[in-house]
Amino acid sequence: MESKCQFHQNGIPCSGKPKLINIKNYQTSVSNYIIGCDKYQFNDKYHHYIKVDPTIYDISLLNNLFNGNAIMVKSILFFKYNI
Ligand SMILES: [Zn+2]
Repeated sequence: MESKCQFHQNGIPCSGKPKLINIKNYQTSVSNYIIGCDKYQFNDKYHHYIKVDPTIYDISLLNNLFNGNAIMVKSILFFKYNI
């Protein structure tokens, strides 16, 4: 979980920290959670992140672990969830 973000911008390593991120789909109202770089933007393939399955992981516990509310990223695009 302490893995550093691999994203580099103009040769400068990303200074982002891991954060619980809630991605909400406007069309389906489905929320998905990821643990990712706090500099993460939706559809950003470069920042480091992992998907969190809420049926396996306790989201509120993770929320407490990451010290605060999940970052909300809202999108009309479907977030692909590979289980
Ligand atoms: Zn990053």
